[in-house]
Amino acid sequence: MNSQNKEGKTTNFIRNIIDKDLSSGKHKSVKTRFPPEPNGYLHIGHAKSICLNFGTAAYYDGYCNLRFDDTNPTKEDIEFVNSIKKDVQWLGFNWDGEVKFSSSYFDIFYEYAEELISKGLAYVCFLSIDETHKYRGTFKEHGENSPYREASIEENLALFRQMKAGEFKEGECVLRAKIDMSSSFMCMRDPALYRIRFETHHQTNDDWCIYPMYDFAHCLGDAIEGVTHSICTLEFQDNRRIYDWILENLDDFNTSSRPHQYEFSRLSLEFTTTSKRKLKLLVDNNYVSGWNDPRMPTISGLRRRGYTPESIRSFSERVGVSKVNSWTDVSILESSIRDDLNTTAPRSMAVINPVKLVIENYPEGKVESLIAPLHPQNEGMGTREIFFSREVYIDKGDFLEIAPNKKYKRLAINKEVRLRNSYIVKATHFDSDNDGNIKIIYCTYDPDTLGKNPSDGRKVKGVIHYIESTKAINAEFRIYDRLFLESNPAKFDDLSSSINPDSLEIKNGFIESNLSNAKAEKAYQFEREGYFCRDSESEGLVFNKIVGLRDTWNQ
Ligand code: ATP
Ligand code: MG
Repeated sequence: MNSQNKEGKTTNFIRNIIDKDLSSGKHKSVKTRFPPEPNGYLHIGHAKSICLNFGTAAYYDGYCNLRFDDTNPTKEDIEFVNSIKKDVQWLGFNWDGEVKFSSSYFDIFYEYAEELISKGLAYVCFLSIDETHKYRGTFKEHGENSPYREASIEENLALFRQMKAGEFKEGECVLRAKIDMSSSFMCMRDPALYRIRFETHHQTNDDWCIYPMYDFAHCLGDAIEGVTHSICTLEFQDNRRIYDWILENLDDFNTSSRPHQYEFSRLSLEFTTTSKRKLKLLVDNNYVSGWNDPRMPTISGLRRRGYTPESIRSFSERVGVSKVNSWTDVSILESSIRDDLNTTAPRSMAVINPVKLVIENYPEGKVESLIAPLHPQNEGMGTREIFFSREVYIDKGDFLEIAPNKKYKRLAINKEVRLRNSYIVKATHFDSDNDGNIKIIYCTYDPDTLGKNPSDGRKVKGVIHYIESTKAINAEFRIYDRLFLESNPAKFDDLSSSINPDSLEIKNGFIESNLSNAKAEKAYQFEREGYFCRDSESEGLVFNKIVGLRDTWNQ
């Protein structure tokens, strides 16, 4: 986890390694990279990796590259390239120079593959998938050498060139590293370096029919770009051996300043999934409206929901960097946004479950203009105009015929409450329909309580919010709950069994007139209701609930 060092700066095991490398002179400056595969939208787990990579570079006045690891044209798409760039920038980070693509190094990668073949360290293997599997052995038994392993260097060079020229079918052969079929690390048992794919690539079109594997492309991309510290998630721990083996066996990179890989634990957030494959299933099966559905843990979903870049960066800081895989409670993410919005979001009122309140002793036809602060603790934010008249809307949940106990601070017959930013009212009677649903509540108001306590000294503790009826503006509210009922939905292959059927509730109510032009994704605190922002994809006045307030109002 993160901790404080002697100077009081936040530190973690990655920074400790870098500090050592800088003081020993191994590296003079720091270069990291964020290497997404453009096969989906970025999620909150990627945000942690982005904050770590870009944040580490910034901390040391170094550089961070954005490099698309685009070595598998089958699943990749330019739509994903564009969304990833947008998300990284929105989070507040700038990559060094141009965006990089592994595919722009395909020529150089090819040269390095030939170098390995020329050194007798790679060979073209024609075993079928099943045979390869059999030859690989198991965790308990070592593997066996492929019969193609001992072909001459000349033969292998010729075969690899034929592979490149498209003379073999997809799946007919692969280029493999000649490492050790008896290694206790399965990934070191002659891993594949290149495979054949007759597929059009979003960057290189039909230039190539052989594509490098991640293990080959990644270390080379790092080395070519002069990355010093290549930070990735723990599942690549074993693969670090291939990373080192490849660089150590290439003349250009067998130096003390070559990049090294360091692993940290991936973020797993409860009640959601950070598997791109599963997120894609949610989209493809229409469980959500798209990658940016406000319930999705994608960066674009969180943005549309109303999360700010600051809150996501602060969340990443809070969860810290460690080598131990663990589950992160969603409440940590929620408190990050709440803490941010508590100081930055202007206050407003919205009635989500409206019922009419008629103030019988208020003059008919009169509409009073009142001034309310935009933030009670920050006068500098200014004020807004709200209204008051004989008819207002309050929330159904704020009225009960009979107060259940003395602590009850909302409206009830013969009980007084203050309407937020305006007068004190006292309920007198109500109309209901045949099913007992309350239709209209009647009350009287005390004209001498605007902005002050009653002069006779009586105490009115309850405050409820309201919207004046003639100026009220209709709005839709989308209230979200967790997308999954299970804390670890990924343990089920069939996602549908753990989907929360009530993850979206739509309500129609009223907002203050000054929000008729509210900007999309800008957060407001609807007093007593929570933080909301206008939806960026809807035509009308639709507000997404970002997160609730702390529970202090709910009594
Ligand atoms: P896949 O490789 O299965 O498509 P991925 O989530 O690993 O999915 P990448 O695009 O390869 O996606 O990830 C880019 C970077 O983000 C990698 O360095 C990866 O380790 C990191 N990353 C991915 N998921 C998480 C996570 N949940 N927590 C932290 N870092 C993550
Ligand atoms: Mg990956």
